[in-house]
Amino acid sequence: MEPTQESVPDDGAGVAPSATAPLAPARTRQTLPPKGACWYCDKPLDNVRRFCDKECADAFDEEKEYTR
Ligand SMILES: [Zn+2]
Repeated sequence: MEPTQESVPDDGAGVAPSATAPLAPARTRQTLPPKGACWYCDKPLDNVRRFCDKECADAFDEEKEYTR
């Protein structure tokens, strides 16, 4: 009886994606509390959102990166 090779992949490509998040660990914007307005452009929002859209979120992150 031999073990099947599915238990130990030797090419290193079978890393579980849930073990480590390769992209975007914890960005600044995800630590912000929702304040009822966009953190970037101050446009009024509901109380669970931080940014009106992805562009604002990305722009906000970029500014944070540059002003560190
Ligand atoms: Zn905005």
